[in-house]
Amino acid sequence: MTRFKSLPVICECGQLLAVYLKGGSGRLRKMYFGRIKEDPLKLFANEPPLPLETEIRCPNCEKRIGTVDRVSGHAAVKINQGAIRL
Ligand SMILES: [Zn+2]
Repeated sequence: MTRFKSLPVICECGQLLAVYLKGGSGRLRKMYFGRIKEDPLKLFANEPPLPLETEIRCPNCEKRIGTVDRVSGHAAVKINQGAIRL
């Protein structure tokens, strides 16, 4: 059974973007919508589903956080590694 860990996703500018339930180790590369535990700014509201290639930006600094994509058949946000603090 995979264990998930709550990971705060923070923009380089310090803005908390989400809390994500991350499985496995290594860097955060993608976020599946179903595993976003907290979305205080409603950046990742996927109801109705966001179209592919929608760009998600930090509301504070406008940096691109990621792009909506399809990963193994599931909608996910591909993370722009340079934009988040780890
Ligand atoms: Zn920011």
